[in-house]
Amino acid sequence: MEFLRPTTWAQALAAKAEQPEAVPIQGGTDVMVEINFDVRRPPALLDLTGIAELSQWSEHDGVHRVGAGVTYARVVDELGAALPGLAQASRTVGSPQIRNRGTVGGNLGAASPAGDSHPPLLAGGALVEVASRDGGVRMIPAEEFYVGVKRSALRPDELIRAVHVTTATGPQYFSKVGTRNAMVIAVCSFAVALHPARRRVGTGIGSAAPTPRRAAEAEEFLAAELDWTARLDDALLRRFGELCAAAAAPIDDVRGTADYRRHAIAVMARRTLTWAWNDYRRARAA
Ligand SMILES: Cc1cc2nc3c(=O)[nH]c(=O)nc-3n(C[C@H](O)[C@H](O)[C@H](O)COP(=O)(O)OP(=O)(O)OC[C@H]3O[C@@H](n4cnc5c(N)ncnc54)[C@H](O)[C@@H]3O)c2cc1C
Repeated sequence: MEFLRPTTWAQALAAKAEQPEAVPIQGGTDVMVEINFDVRRPPALLDLTGIAELSQWSEHDGVHRVGAGVTYARVVDELGAALPGLAQASRTVGSPQIRNRGTVGGNLGAASPAGDSHPPLLAGGALVEVASRDGGVRMIPAEEFYVGVKRSALRPDELIRAVHVTTATGPQYFSKVGTRNAMVIAVCSFAVALHPARRRVGTGIGSAAPTPRRAAEAEEFLAAELDWTARLDDALLRRFGELCAAAAAPIDDVRGTADYRRHAIAVMARRTLTWAWNDYRRARAA
């Protein structure tokens, strides 16, 4: 197996253009498991850890650009206030060892329906910055990035460079159901993000459909019905939960049944919206 180790982004794009079958490796917490278990044996690995810029993040005009190589540990430590939904999700990933190596870029690259970063990226309306030597840069909305089970919109010669997430302008929450509290693949998960200035609520569903997805109808319902000056109405909350559950398309598998997942999505949708709403009301009252 060839091991390619570019030190600049241009070199990485050139290597991927010349050898599209080369598998990028960042933290390696997915790739090395697959290699160790002989799930795949790529002809070449494209190690991206030598490209310093990938492990940096920056903020400009209310948008955070998080490099593909920024680890979960750093999202938790450094971006908790700016991107609370993503930071909460990052906190639930694996163990300290996995959070020290694993990256949001790698989560996107793997595009697993159970990946924990996806629901908050969807709820926050994130854009995935990808590039290739010959095709240039593409900014892909998160909801168009996931195209099937462990399949993304990434082309064979493209690499993920960063993810752009609007700095939180309102409360955000992430919730995950697992068969235990840590080191667990989500049975299902849910993220909510309040965007008070736009009077919109963003949603993201994980591990309850072939791809992570938004609950678009539930978002439209809140955009039409939610009174941003009042208490949360019980009937509205219930309907929001139902619409989120209806947006899911879960399967029965070893981690849970489709029925349980639908039920849990409704519960998490109601809970996360309530938590976010209470924070929003407290902040307004202060
Ligand atoms: C014990 C254990 C526990 C885990 N727990 C969780 C969990 O709780 N939640 C969760 O979501 N995940 C979990 N994972 C999975 C994994 O840690 C995450 O998916 C992580 O985000 C992968 O990041 P990485 O940097 O290690 O990616 P890598 O393993 O390096 O790469 C993952 C995929 O992305 C591709 N890739 C990486 N970087 C790029 C790039 N810049 N451009 C294009 N493609 C790229 C790779 O080719 C590969 O297909 C766990 C894994 C282990 C081993």
